[in-house]
Amino acid sequence: MSHVDTEVRPSNFIRNIIDEDLKSGKHSQVHTRFPPEPNGYLHIGHAKSICLNFGIAKDYQGQCNLRFDDTNPEKEDINYVKSIQEDVRWLGFEWSGDIRYSSNYFDQLHQYAVELITKGLAYVCFLNGEQTREYRGSLKEPGKNSPYRDTSVEENLALFEKMRKGEFKEGECALRAKIDMASPFMCMRDPIIYRIRFAHHHQTGDKWCIYPMYDFTHCISDAIENITHSICTLEFQDNRRLYDWVLDHLNDFQAPNRTRQYEFSRLNLEYTLMSKRKLNDLVTRKLVDGWDDPRMPTIAGLRRRGYTSASIREFCLRIGVTKQENLIEVGMLDACIREELNEHAPRAMAVLRPIKVVIENYPDAQPETITAPAHPNNEAMGTRELTFGRELFIDVDDFKEEANKHFKRLVLGKEVRLRNAYIIKAERCDKDADGNITTVYCTYDADTLGKNPADGRKVKGVIHWVEASTAKPAEFRLYDRLFTSENPAAFETVDEVLNPNSLTVVKGLVEPGLVNAPAEKAFQFEREGYFCADSKDSSAEHLVFNLTVPLRDTFA
Ligand code: ATP
Ligand code: MG
Repeated sequence: MSHVDTEVRPSNFIRNIIDEDLKSGKHSQVHTRFPPEPNGYLHIGHAKSICLNFGIAKDYQGQCNLRFDDTNPEKEDINYVKSIQEDVRWLGFEWSGDIRYSSNYFDQLHQYAVELITKGLAYVCFLNGEQTREYRGSLKEPGKNSPYRDTSVEENLALFEKMRKGEFKEGECALRAKIDMASPFMCMRDPIIYRIRFAHHHQTGDKWCIYPMYDFTHCISDAIENITHSICTLEFQDNRRLYDWVLDHLNDFQAPNRTRQYEFSRLNLEYTLMSKRKLNDLVTRKLVDGWDDPRMPTIAGLRRRGYTSASIREFCLRIGVTKQENLIEVGMLDACIREELNEHAPRAMAVLRPIKVVIENYPDAQPETITAPAHPNNEAMGTRELTFGRELFIDVDDFKEEANKHFKRLVLGKEVRLRNAYIIKAERCDKDADGNITTVYCTYDADTLGKNPADGRKVKGVIHWVEASTAKPAEFRLYDRLFTSENPAAFETVDEVLNPNSLTVVKGLVEPGLVNAPAEKAFQFEREGYFCADSKDSSAEHLVFNLTVPLRDTFA
């Protein structure tokens, strides 16, 4: 697609900051990072952050690290670590050097916590969860100092060591930064920086029973990796104060050009949930077929559905990067994939709801081979061979016994062109006991293969078809939105907004060449939509095609 991977990238406020930092000499090279928590699969929102962070590194010849922010061992899993790497690479990006893990720095983080204690800037607090909340105050009221706030440095060092050794129970105490219980920023009211968790960690095993909190870990990890621009979403705006406070008070991080945090607004997409917690809920309750269900907004789901990485990058380019809250129309994502597939997807014919057509004047037992282009206006894509014969299938919606002139398909007594083949005329039809049409009997004009009738009569309609003896049975999975609300995040549970009709399965027929369709590569099934073979369930014996996107914006 012409506008994908364009060299000219629209600027944004973050790129402007980088331009200034390079010009002023504050930095000579840009170093970003993408820091997912391995507690779920990446979704389209993450793609925005990936394109931003890796895209900046690429365009400025800098570096971007992939760092797993793995400080919540109970919720994390090595399978997520693997899927995230796969998805980043599939999106077309490569991280600088080895994969990083925040857990790589657990020893250093522990040392830095000790440094804060030694400086009288952190203390072990024994208030329980409820008391801690109570003491924290509210946006309207300042908090109260914890009774443990003035414990001596020596005692705090000893208590923290006991925490590390597992001598306290989970939740019995925590290490808190000593900042300001009256701060207007709640995150500065003596935030917890270490807590006790007797949990096995996917990277560090059972080495630790204390784990650092995100706010403490993230800034230090950035500083250790010499990240120059630490880009995150707006909900961390207040936390920037804590980010800076932690680094300000550690001797190792006093360089004037040390890492700085910048926030942008997260992607919200209509009819789509981005919360990994809620997506996980859909998966664990089997309301969808796994994280890569083609209805899921995950990168793996979009891939399985036939989206290309170029179309997702293009989408991320079009939505831009700002600080404005936004709810992007799903049509924008659809348009990106549709534009690309319209240009690049090979064409094929599939009949989703077949009825039989018999061409009565077609010479018996004389199937013929017809050559059809793979794409109507891209010769370079080559051709494919189709079989034409006496018995065909067309879609049930393409035939009516009677219709007005707006119905440009097959009608009794009228003509229509079969795509890539002849003009046929419907003569009569058979019905079953319920009145459903079972067979349409037609005649064909043998002199109309690839050309107009010699007598100049006009035949406007074109319908698609497959030949009966060679067509392959196939299952088609037709997807609709997973949620019925434009803003499903506003609902407490997914159950309230789940679309019961998000998947419709129909059984039909495809032209035989499609047995070799590679998984996840979309075709345009002419007049039906873009479809790709399912990577999990499709095989030569049982073809399964996923609807990638309809031909037109059916919701407009
Ligand atoms: P979730 O709420 O879905 O669990 P998260 O922010 O906790 O998301 P992380 O794995 O911590 O998920 O995110 C990794 C990076 O991706 C972070 O820098 C985060 O800001 C960014 N990110 C996550 N969701 C979005 C989104 N919807 N739009 C843009 N960036 C996002
Ligand atoms: Mg997170």
